Amino acid sequence: MNSSPVRQTAPPVPPRIIPRAEHTVSRSHISPNALRVLYRLRDAGFKAFLVGGCVRDLLLGLDPKDFDVATDALPEQVKRLFRNCRLVGRRFRLAHVFFGQETIEVATFRAATAPSQGEEPLEAEEAGESAGEEGEGEEGEILDLGGPVTEPRAARAEAAHAPVGAIQEGDLDPDAVRMFDETGRILRDNVYGTIDNDVWRRDFTANALYYNVADFSIWDYVGGAEDIAARRLRLIGDPETRYREDPVRMLRAARFEAKLGFELDAQTAEPLERLRDLLGGVPPARLFDEMLKLFLAGHAVRSLDVLRRRGLLAALMPNVDAYLAAHPGSLVEKLLRKGLASTDARSLAGRPVSPTFLLAVLLYGPIAQIIEAMPSSRWHELSAILDACDQAVREAQAHIAIPRRFALGVREMFAMQPRLQYPRGRRALRLLAHPRFRAGYDLLLLRADFGLASAETARWWTQLQEASGQDREQMADSLAPERSGAARKSRRRPRGRGRRTPNVP
Ligand code: ATP
Ligand code: MG
Repeated sequence: MNSSPVRQTAPPVPPRIIPRAEHTVSRSHISPNALRVLYRLRDAGFKAFLVGGCVRDLLLGLDPKDFDVATDALPEQVKRLFRNCRLVGRRFRLAHVFFGQETIEVATFRAATAPSQGEEPLEAEEAGESAGEEGEGEEGEILDLGGPVTEPRAARAEAAHAPVGAIQEGDLDPDAVRMFDETGRILRDNVYGTIDNDVWRRDFTANALYYNVADFSIWDYVGGAEDIAARRLRLIGDPETRYREDPVRMLRAARFEAKLGFELDAQTAEPLERLRDLLGGVPPARLFDEMLKLFLAGHAVRSLDVLRRRGLLAALMPNVDAYLAAHPGSLVEKLLRKGLASTDARSLAGRPVSPTFLLAVLLYGPIAQIIEAMPSSRWHELSAILDACDQAVREAQAHIAIPRRFALGVREMFAMQPRLQYPRGRRALRLLAHPRFRAGYDLLLLRADFGLASAETARWWTQLQEASGQDREQMADSLAPERSGAARKSRRRPRGRGRRTPNVP
């Protein structure tokens, strides 16, 4: 490990300043809460800019996912300006300003080549925990505010009187050194800088534009505006060095390629396959978080294609990559793509998406393969399904930290398949109340789409859910003691030696 402070790489170039009249970013598209934060910082005498993905997305006419603010105010100074503010981050302090559901992240300008907030999990939001299960409220853990804050009088008075511009004891971190590990990865950096420094630590030129609240101009140090217009993704600085500093930038490149449909600049693309193994040195919790951003944000199908084409799926989920490589055009691949497409449709429609369902479709191939490798005498056993789920999840866990509740969810979804495929009398009704029923049923539908489960039985479950209480009982009774109708016809559960296909695949 090398702990010597690194050179400041910021060349002394002035930014190109694009005046309001020459760009398309309008305040009407900016979150009112982000504008409140910007205005209050400005009114307290600080510099304040929107920065990063939100400026990029506004220029592209997209709805930004979140709004990030960069300022010359130190974190403690930001905290004094906003009653609804919490400082987070272990090594890099950031201010989160809360407005009900929305959080505006305010980062102090930092010195050159420092990694961004993504480099470490935040105190308040451990990686992976930020993605909620369907219906599970996660915000309570993160937000500790008493509701939206619309310029409360007390806070305004505080803003007017507190010596916000003055640096107070404790505002500066005395431990401002930068350390690298032997692969060139930045391990720590606490140095605050100016906007001229801040720009060089950002990853892609398209992510390094600053929207200045003082006059609504855009500051561009790195040709980001031109790259956005050309739909080009280009790393700032020497690509290999930037990937070594923070290998997650490789996944971010794939994510932006998938999300924005940008073309990767040749030099930005070249090292990806060569350096992908560096992802092995990234904390698995952070990789899990990145995986969710790749697959739960409405562009999962494209993410899968880009990750495979760039050789990155092999570093993120090698068992999934190996299965797809060994079974080109398989039913499992079709099932996976359809599952991802329906996840995309849900997330684009603003409906909740579930990491459990995502993991189940991603791991379908590896799970099926493990079952098929077992002696056929075990194929009908529930324990075979559970063992296969556990093994496939364990293989994935070696790279990405899958929180326990999602791993258990995958197990439950698969364990439910035989019961869904062969419903039995009134016991079938009990399954409707299972907390994982909906996910298990969705998986059954997908399997039925590809002939991996009976389409008739899948329809029976659909009708059962639509039926009234009494009709449900009748439907269930008609199955007992012998199955009837659709379910009996679909019964293809050979026993003993004659059995040819495993229970799930
Ligand atoms: P999204 O649309 O997913 O929000 P984003 O570009 O805003 O995309 P964030 O993860 O929200 O991505 O990060 C905000 C900004 O912080 C980025 O635009 C980029 O400037 C900077 N950044 C984030 N992660 C990194 C990183 N690993 N290395 C360098 N800069 C980063
Ligand atoms: Mg963002």
